[in-house]
Formats: sequence, structure tokens, C-alpha cells
Amino acid sequence: MIYTDTRDKSVKTDFRTSVINGMNKKTGGLYIPVSFPKLGADFLKKAPNLKEIAFEMAKPYVEGEIPDADLLALIEDAYPFDAPVVSIDDNSYVLELFHGPTCAFKDFGARFMARVMSYFNRSESDPLHILVATSGDTGSAVGSAFHNVPGLDVTILYPEGKISPLQEKQLSTFDGNVRALKVKGTFDDCQKLVKTAFTDEELRGKLRLSSANSINISRLLPQGFYYMYSSLKVKSERPDSDIIEVVPSGNFGNLTSGLIAREMGAPITGFVAATNSNRTVPDWIATGSYDARPSVTTYANAMDVGAPSNYERISAMYTLEQVRSLFASYWLDNDGILDSIRHCKETTKYTIDPHGAVGWKAWYDIKSGGIEALKNGMKNDISKPGLTPNLPEWADSVISKKAVGIILETAHPAKFGSTVEKAAGITPEIPERLKKVMSLPDRAVPMENDYSQFKEWLLANL
Ligand SMILES: *Cc1c(COP(=O)(O)O)cnc(C)c1O
Repeated sequence: MIYTDTRDKSVKTDFRTSVINGMNKKTGGLYIPVSFPKLGADFLKKAPNLKEIAFEMAKPYVEGEIPDADLLALIEDAYPFDAPVVSIDDNSYVLELFHGPTCAFKDFGARFMARVMSYFNRSESDPLHILVATSGDTGSAVGSAFHNVPGLDVTILYPEGKISPLQEKQLSTFDGNVRALKVKGTFDDCQKLVKTAFTDEELRGKLRLSSANSINISRLLPQGFYYMYSSLKVKSERPDSDIIEVVPSGNFGNLTSGLIAREMGAPITGFVAATNSNRTVPDWIATGSYDARPSVTTYANAMDVGAPSNYERISAMYTLEQVRSLFASYWLDNDGILDSIRHCKETTKYTIDPHGAVGWKAWYDIKSGGIEALKNGMKNDISKPGLTPNLPEWADSVISKKAVGIILETAHPAKFGSTVEKAAGITPEIPERLKKVMSLPDRAVPMENDYSQFKEWLLANL
């Protein structure tokens, strides 16, 4: 596969370069495959399992760079867990993406990326040092995904006192090749330390450095696997239904992966782009002007993004008109998130986390009259929570009850136990793998917000 750049179509590179570089420093653009090959009709017809799908979907993107046998082994190692599709009412499903080690969907992308990086580093004698700044969830997914993966070494920087106690446990209790620094500063300070390290020629002369953030193409491609899987599974059970994937979004990496799966032949009719009060993308879809802004804090905090990085890819792949016909878009404020957790429990008995709750409310409103009202000319006020006024091409399918929604549940509700309790008065059962982490000793190393001290530490300890 040839990869190009969202800002310069004359760029031509391979998978390895796209993965190791993360982004194109020269243009500031993101890497993207030049095409999205369709899977064979016979393959799609047999409703394959998640790992078969992963292999078939990944193959064209790594062709000539990772042989089949190695790709198969990599996928086996990355995914010892499943993504159950749970029916919660007549026309709604939940796709549970929290069965990985850190109980959030980022495990799917991060575990694939770690193994790909390790594969590309296998002939080097020195380890590749990954530096990550995190405001919470990315750090744990990356730390866990890279833990004990050969040839790789990870340093996580997080703002001391500014992440939840569980998040802190999840990223500060690793041993071996993964370590955490608790920085006396903000997330932005952490990010600045990492960025300064990447531009420090002296340091780069001594250590091979790389990043692992969500713009990396090797995190996006594997997230397409579960869209293909969930849509084929539901389609095989209800061949006459139209499938709408409902995606709680922050950086819009997850939704971009869904677009890739659809291009590859997944039977997906449309998407719902659902956000919290960080409504940059719903506003863009409604008004046509893209206006990045500072993020605001919400209960669905892994979606607190005011300048979503994958807008760059979505707008390189589709025109605004195409986006408007493919997507409904929706945003929900903090009170709405609490109401939705309670409402979902009351109407379906399903305990949903604050991120999934944004999706549940969006889908519920769409199917209970929201889309029909738009069709009848309702002009929703975009400054209020709810559906933006664009009418997707699939509106009639919802009105005629032909559409079914698959809501992506991106985190286990126990990760946000206090919010779920506040909303619905229930305490979600904590999975064993989270309990275990909570009992491990904290190994984070304190770090001043000072580049020379950070550099000295890296040189002495890596
Ligand atoms: C990261 C994250 C999201 C947002 O995903 P994007 O790909 O950034 O849109 C949603 N929910 C949870 C739990 C997350 O960790």
C-alpha cells in the first residue's frame, strides 16, 4: 500500500514510514492510504469472526512489509479479547469495546500499533523509546499495550493531581519497559516537555525517539475491525435492516476508522457523530465553518477535545456535503449525560458509561422523532444540546423503522463509577483486571516542569 499525506497528495511513502513518523513533519499533515480496498463479497457473506476480519482488513495496508504469517501472529497476540454486540431494545445494539486490558476501546488501536512498531524495530540493536504525554486514558492504553513488547520502551508523562485515582493507578504501576513521570504542571506542560525532546538534536543523537499518539495510522486501521465485525453480525441476523453506527467522539479517530471500514465494504448505511459540550464537529456540520476552540471539561472526559485531530483526515476524504449526507450529528451537555445514563438504565436495564451515554441519547432522540422533525422542516438551534439540522440521506430509513443503531460503548462503566452512581444510583461492578491494578504499588517518578531536568533524567534512566 502506498500512503500519502492529507495536505500534499504528491507525498508517497510506505506503512513503516507512516507508522514510525506518526505525522509528516514537513507539511504538518497526517498519513492516509491512497485507497481503501474492498473486501471480497464471499468473505463478507460468511459473517466472519473478529480475528479473521482483522487479518483480511489489515492485509492490504501492510502488503510487502509484513508477511501474512507474521501479521496473523501479531493479530493473535494483540486480541485475546472480544467485542460483544449486545441487543438492548428492538432497534438498538451496544458494541462493547471495553473487554481489553484497560477497559476502553483504545486498547484495539494501541495494541496493534505496539506490535507493528516492535515488528519494524526487530532488526535494530537499540530500543525505540516512546514518549507520551497524557491527560488520562491514552497513557494507560499505550502503557498496557507496550508493556513487555520487545524492543520498545515507554515513558508516560502525566500532570500530577489532575487525573483520576484509577487512571493514575492504570498508568503508574507498570514495571520493566514502561514507566511514568508525574509532572508538576498541566497536561500542556507535559506535552511541551515531550515536544521539546523531539526537537532536541543532541538527545535524538543518543536515543531513538518516537510517539504513540492517536493520529498514528496504525491506531486507526485496527479500529476498523470492530465496525466491520459488528455491522456484518447485525446484518446477518437482520438482512433487511440499515445499520447506523453511533460514535461517541473526541478526536474523531474512532469515527474515521468507521469510515474506512465502510469504504472497505462494511454494510454501514450511516453514522451518528455524537459529542459532549466540545461540539466543534457538530457545529462544523451545521454551519460549514470549522472553528477549533479550547476544550471544556465534562463527565465524558476522554472526549474533551476542542480541536479534533482527525478532522484533518475526514475533510481530506469527504466533502462537507458528503459528510452531511452520511452523518447525523448531535451534542449533549453535562446534565444531559447524567440524564442519559439514568434513562438508558430505566428503559433498557443496560448500565452505560458517560461516553456511551452520549451515543445512547443521540440514537434515542433520532429514532423517537428527532429525524422526522428535521425532515418536516424543524430548524434546531445548534447552541442547544441535540441534533444538528442537517438531514442525512438515511433519514427515511429511521422514519420507516428500517434502521438499527449500533452504539459504540467505548469504556467500561466502572471506570467512571462515581458519575454512573450520581446519575443512576447504581455502582457498576469493577472487573477483576481493574481491581488488580488498584492494588499494585504506585511507581510514578516525580518530575519538575523543567526541560533540562527531564532530559537529564531520560539520559540517566533510558
Ligand atoms: C478516546 C475516547 C473516546 C474518543 O475517541 P476519539 O477517537 O478520540 O473520537 C471516547 N470514549 C472513550 C472512553 C475514550 O477513551
